[in-house]
Amino acid sequence: MAVSAETTSRTDTRQIAALHRCLLDWYAQNARSFGWRTRQNDAYLVLVAEVMLQQTQTARVEIKLPQFLERFPTVYELAAADNATIVRAWQGMGYNNRAIRLRDCARAIIERHKGHVPETMEELLALPGIGRYTASAILVFAYGRDLPVVDVNIQRVYSRLFGRMATTAETLSEKETHDLALQLYPVGKSSVWHQALMDMGALYCTARAPKCAVCPLNDLCRSAFAMAEAQRQKRPEPSWRGEPNRIWRGRVVEILRGSASGQWTNSAQILARLFTGEVFTDEEETEMRAWLHGLAEGLRRDRLVEVRSAAVSQWAELRLEQ
Ligand code: SF4
Repeated sequence: MAVSAETTSRTDTRQIAALHRCLLDWYAQNARSFGWRTRQNDAYLVLVAEVMLQQTQTARVEIKLPQFLERFPTVYELAAADNATIVRAWQGMGYNNRAIRLRDCARAIIERHKGHVPETMEELLALPGIGRYTASAILVFAYGRDLPVVDVNIQRVYSRLFGRMATTAETLSEKETHDLALQLYPVGKSSVWHQALMDMGALYCTARAPKCAVCPLNDLCRSAFAMAEAQRQKRPEPSWRGEPNRIWRGRVVEILRGSASGQWTNSAQILARLFTGEVFTDEEETEMRAWLHGLAEGLRRDRLVEVRSAAVSQWAELRLEQ
């Protein structure tokens, strides 16, 4: 929930200087060590890492990123991968359409930029699947540009430091956060500054239970010890049997990943795998077939699977898109 502009107090030069000192000193001693931070000037690596980190935990990315880069060491190998290959390589990451978009992005980088990850905001934003956060992250972390980088974690930390939030669910508006971000990063140190903020957001200023008592910034923070814990409202989303369809989609793709390359799998078999051991009435089975075919249609639209009608049954057949 964004709070109104009135809650934002003006920042002053002394306060900003103290924050720079405190956060950068803390980071110098406590930076989290990740593989992707050791090769920061590799724009392709930063691109892949940032796409992976969008919806996957850092611990999992730590494992998957080196495997992925071994398989696709440059933008050229990635661009050459077909859909099934890239979806198989994405196993364990979730949100599989990110993999297709990343591959599409690699193709666009080759077609439009001769294989070089572009170095301007405008060109990066024109690539498939690249939003403002990822573009800023590439410019700052890979190319050393001095720019603000704002993701939801940095928005949360800035909001609390400068906005006196009443609950853990509140944040400043995107515009207010962006205005703050513009004046706050220390010139010449944008990369290290934003990584320090990310670590602060992950280790202390977490979304639900900030650790204000041990936070190194608590003397400088307007929301320290002041926020009530908010009950987070889950966003309503299409579900089936109490679980979101996005989870079911992931399970269907997982089953298809286990099939031999190019092999079709009947959706009746998929249903049996999804609900092992359950027995359905004819009516339930009809309902479930319609649901599964709807799910498959969504996966087909996202170019993750191919769907064809089976010759002798009402059950469609599926395979990863080739
Ligand atoms: Fe976040 Fe608490 Fe630290 Fe403020 S003092 S930055 S609210 S953890």
